[in-house]
Amino acid sequence: MPPYEVNRKVMAFQLACADTGDKTCPFVVRAETMEEALKLAGEHVKATHKVIVTPQMAEQMRRAMKRV
Ligand SMILES: [Zn+2]
Repeated sequence: MPPYEVNRKVMAFQLACADTGDKTCPFVVRAETMEEALKLAGEHVKATHKVIVTPQMAEQMRRAMKRV
């Protein structure tokens, strides 16, 4: 298989709540884009932890995000 076929595999961004905030939280979000993952994670922390994501937290989340 030519290499470009391998590279076309869809990548996703994964973010674990435990990596950014509550260490005991099992929540993991996965999305095709970083912005989508950030948005979903923001909704989660707002609904579950009653926390509004600040620009500093968003930056921390970007750094904690894994490509899967
Ligand atoms: Zn959480």
